[in-house]
Amino acid sequence: MNGYCKSSLALLLLLCFLLCSFPAFADDSSQVVRVGFYPLAGLQNVDENGQPSGYLYDYLMEIAQYTDWKYDFYIGGLEECLQMLEKGELDLMGGIRRTTARMKLFEFSNYDCGQMDINLYIKSNDERYAYDDTAALHGMRVGIERGSALMTDLMHYCQLNSISVSTAEYDSQDALFTALCSGEVDGVCVSSSIDDSRIRCVAAFAPRAFYFISPKGCTDLIRQVDKVLETIKISKPTFEQALRTKHFPAIPGNSPMFTRAELDYIATADTLNVAYMDGGYPLEYTDENTGDFAGVHAEILEQVSSLSGLRFNYIPVPNRTDIPMEQDEQTISLLASVPDNANPTPPNGLRLTQSYLTIPLVMIARNMHPDEQIKVAMPRDTYILHLIQDTFPDYAIEGYDTSDACVAAVRSGKATATFLSEYLAREHLQDSRNASLTATAMNSLTLNYCIGVSTKADPLLVSILDKTLSCIDDAEVQDYLIANTLIHRHENLVDLFIRNPALWSMILVASVAVLFLLTSINTLNKNRHAKELYRIANIDALTGAPSAYCFHREASQLLRTVGGIPYVFLYMNIRKFKDINSLYGYSLGDDVLRCLNNTLHDVCDENERYGRIYADRFVLLLKYTGEKELFERFNQLNRRVADACHTQHGLANLCLVGGAAPILDDDKDIHAVIDRANYACQQAEADSRQDFVMFSNTLAFKISLQRTLEKDMAGALEAGEFLVYYQPKINSDSDQITGAEALIRWQHSALGLLPPIEFISLFEKNAFILKTDLYVFEQVCAYQANRQQRGKPLYPISCNFSRLHLANPAFVETLEALADRYNVAHSLLEVEITETVAMEDTERAQVLLFKLAEAGFPISIDDFGSGYSSLGLLSELDFDIVKIDRSLTMGVFTSPNRAILLSGLVRILNAMDKRVVCEGVETKEQMEQLRSLGCRIIQGYYYSRPLPDKDFDQKY
Ligand code: C2E
Ligand code: CA
Ligand code: CA
Repeated sequence: MNGYCKSSLALLLLLCFLLCSFPAFADDSSQVVRVGFYPLAGLQNVDENGQPSGYLYDYLMEIAQYTDWKYDFYIGGLEECLQMLEKGELDLMGGIRRTTARMKLFEFSNYDCGQMDINLYIKSNDERYAYDDTAALHGMRVGIERGSALMTDLMHYCQLNSISVSTAEYDSQDALFTALCSGEVDGVCVSSSIDDSRIRCVAAFAPRAFYFISPKGCTDLIRQVDKVLETIKISKPTFEQALRTKHFPAIPGNSPMFTRAELDYIATADTLNVAYMDGGYPLEYTDENTGDFAGVHAEILEQVSSLSGLRFNYIPVPNRTDIPMEQDEQTISLLASVPDNANPTPPNGLRLTQSYLTIPLVMIARNMHPDEQIKVAMPRDTYILHLIQDTFPDYAIEGYDTSDACVAAVRSGKATATFLSEYLAREHLQDSRNASLTATAMNSLTLNYCIGVSTKADPLLVSILDKTLSCIDDAEVQDYLIANTLIHRHENLVDLFIRNPALWSMILVASVAVLFLLTSINTLNKNRHAKELYRIANIDALTGAPSAYCFHREASQLLRTVGGIPYVFLYMNIRKFKDINSLYGYSLGDDVLRCLNNTLHDVCDENERYGRIYADRFVLLLKYTGEKELFERFNQLNRRVADACHTQHGLANLCLVGGAAPILDDDKDIHAVIDRANYACQQAEADSRQDFVMFSNTLAFKISLQRTLEKDMAGALEAGEFLVYYQPKINSDSDQITGAEALIRWQHSALGLLPPIEFISLFEKNAFILKTDLYVFEQVCAYQANRQQRGKPLYPISCNFSRLHLANPAFVETLEALADRYNVAHSLLEVEITETVAMEDTERAQVLLFKLAEAGFPISIDDFGSGYSSLGLLSELDFDIVKIDRSLTMGVFTSPNRAILLSGLVRILNAMDKRVVCEGVETKEQMEQLRSLGCRIIQGYYYSRPLPDKDFDQKY
C-alpha cells in the first residue's frame, strides 16, 4: 500500500468514526440511563465488538428521541441483569414478560413494547418432527433455561395438546444449544425466534407481551417510559410493526407451511376429481379447442395445485345440485367454485374453503313503463338466482336456460331486468343488439367464490387448501381476471381498440332509464325504496364517493360536453391496502379510504370526475396535458394522501399506485380506456420500484408474454431448456483468463433463445428464481467437475444469486452440499450478490456473506455503482471482489470526474485488499483507458460474449 493510499484510507476511517460517534458530542446535560441488555436473537443483538442492536435497541433509541436520555448499556445474561436491576445497579431493562414473582421485585411499564411467542426448536435434520405436528412431540426431552417462566407455558401447552414431555434445565441459552447439538435433549424451548440454519422451529405457542422494567420504587423513570410508549402507540401505530418486520423478517416467497400430517396427505393423495360447471365464461368453462377446464377459476385451481402439490382432474357437470360427491365410480372430492353465500346450501353439506375471488354483480335492464310489474330473468340453477331472490323478495323471477336467454328476454320485453356477474354482463353488452339496455353495478351484491370440499374427504384437505389459497395474493387473482377478460378475448390489442363498439358509453347514457326503473319498483313503500336504490346506485356508502356507475355516467356526459379537450383516465389504489386492514383493522382501513376520497374530491376541478370502483380502487377522469404533467400530478396527489393519512391516522408511508391511459381520438368506448388504465395500474402494483405506469401497447404484449413464460417455466426446468453460458474475466495485462461468470439463458421451445432480462424479474416475483439459481449453480458444479476430469485448467466461475435466497437459513449449506456432491473445491465457485441487496438488507447480507466466507466460497459484490453506492457499507461486509457496473465503467469515457472517481475507488478497494472487475467493456480503447485507471480484470464483449459451454471449452 503506498503512502497516499494509507493516508486517504486513514482519513476515510477517521471521518467514518467521527460521523458514527457524533451523538457522543451531544450536550452532556442529558440523563444517563443504565440499561441491562441480555442478548436474544432479533430482540437484543450484540456483535463481536459489543455493539448492541435489535428490536429493543431501536425501541430505546426511539424513546430517547422524546426523553433526551443517553444509554449506558450493560451486556450480560438475563438473570445477571435482573439481579443487578434489583440491586439498583441498573435503571432499565426491556423484553421482560410479566410474572407475579417479577411484579413483586420490579416496576413494570403499563404499556407493553411488543409480543413474543415461545418457540420449540429442534435440530434441522431431525426427521422425527414437523411443524405443528403436536402428537409427535409426545415423550420429547426438552431443554429449558433454569428457573425460566417458560416452564409454566410449556406445561400448559402440553396439557392443551394432551402430550407430555420431560424437561432438563440449563444455565444459559448457550448451554441449551450445546445440549441440543450433542443430543442430550431433543428440543429446546426459548422465548425468541432464532435465525440459525442448524435448528428449526416445530412449535410456537403462548404469545405474550413483554415490558420495560425498572427497580422497585423507581417509579419516575418507568412512568416516563409509559408516557413515551403511549405517545408512540398513538402517533405512530406502525412503529412496532415496522420494527418487527425489520428484526424478525418472515420467510418470503409464497409457499404454504404444511404440517407433517398435511405433507403426508399430499404425498399419498390420489388425483382429486374436481367438478366444474361448463358454460360459465369467463370464470369457468370448457375450452372449445382443447376440451380442457378453462377460465379464472381454472387458473386459480392450477395455482393451488402447483403450490400445494395436490393433483386435480377436472370433470364438467351439467348442474350443481346433484353431483355424485364421493360415490363409487367417479368420486368427486371438490367443487371448483361455490359462493360463500350460496343458497340453497350446496349438495351433501359441503365444507367451504376461504373465498378466493369476489365478483360484483351488474343489473342489466331495459327501458320500461313506471307502472309495469318488474319481471327478472335469471339463469336457472345458479347461485345468483337465489341471491337475487333473497335480496329482492318482491321481484317476480323467471328461470331461463342460459344467460344469453335472459338477456334476450330483457331485449324482447318479456323481462324487465337480469342480474349477471360483472364479467358476463360486459360480454353481453358488447353485443350491438343490446345497445338499448342499461347496466348498473350493484356494489353491495357480490359473489365470493370458495372451493367446496366433500364432507367425506379428509378434513386435512380443507386446511391444505386454505393455507394454499392464502398464499395467492390479490394481484395474482386480478391478473387472471385481466388475462381472461382482456388478453384472452382480444387476441391482439389492435383488435381490442378497433373492435370495441360504444358498449359502455351506452350503459351510461341511459341513466334516465335507470331512474325509470328505480321509480317503478313495485313495493308498498315506493318512494323510500326508489330513493334508497338511487343512493345505492350512485353514492358509495362507505366513503361517500361517486359510485362506479355514477362515475361512468358522469364521465361520459362530461366527455360529450367538453368535446375536443384531451382527457386521461387514471386508475389507482393503495399499495398493500390489505396489510393496512389486517394489521390495524378494517375500521382504520375504512378511514383511509375516506381520507383518500376527501383528497380526490379536493383535487378534481369541476371539469374532472372521480369515483370508487370497489375496495381501494378509484378511477379519475382528468384533463390531460402530457405524461410528465400527469406524473407530477399523481405524485402530488400521492404526497397529499400520505400526509393526510399520516396526520389524521398516524399511518406512515402510505403509498398510492396508479396507471393511466389517455383517451385517443378514435376511442369510442370509455370502458375500454378504463380497462387500459387498470391494466397499467396492475403493472405499477406488481413492481415495487414504480408507483405510476402509463399504458402502452408494448406493455400489453409484455404481460401476455410473461404469462406464457410463467405457464411454461416449470416444464422448461424439467426439460432442460435452461442453458448456462460462460463469459470470461480477463486480466488485461496478460490477456489471460482469470475466471468466468455463469449466465442463464432459456431455450424456449416456441420463442427461441431468451436472455435473462426477459424472465429474471418474473422469476423473482414468483420465487421460481430460487430453483433456477440453484440449477445454474449445480450445472456449474458439474461443468467444473467435468473440466477437472478432462484435465482442463480450472478458474473460479461465479453464479448470480437473487435476494430471495437471503431468507433461506440453509442457503450456504445447500451450496456446500452441491459442491461437495460434485467434489468441486469451494474456491472454484464464486457467489455474486448485487450491491442493492447488500444495501437493503445489510444485517442479513452480513450474516450470509460471513457464512459464505467461512465455507470458502469467494464472494463478489455485483453491479457496484448502479445504485446508491456506499463505501461505508462495503467496509462492513465480508467479500473478495467488487464488480463495477457497466453504467459506471461507461461513464469514465464521457466524464473526467467519473474517471477520477473510478481510479480513487479502485485504489481504496485495492487498499482494502479487494479485487476489482470492470463489466461491459466493449472496445480496445475502453479497455486501455480502464487499465490506465488501475482496473486490470475485464469482463466484456471486447474479450468475449457469454459462450455456450462447448465454445467456452474450446477457447479457454
Ligand atoms: P449481470 O450479473 O450484471 O451480468 C452481466 C451482464 O452484462 C450479462 O447480461 C452480460 O451478457 C452483459 N455483458 C457482458 N459484457 C458486456 C458488454 O461488453 N456490453 C454489454 N452491453 N453487456 C455486456 P445477461 O447475460 O443478459 O444477464 C443479465 C442479467 O441477468 C445479469 O446481469 C444478472 O443480473 C441476471 N442473471 C443472469 N443469469 C442469472 C442467474 O443465473 N441468476 C440470477 N439470479 N440472475 C441472473
Ligand atoms: Ca453478475
Ligand atoms: Ca453485473
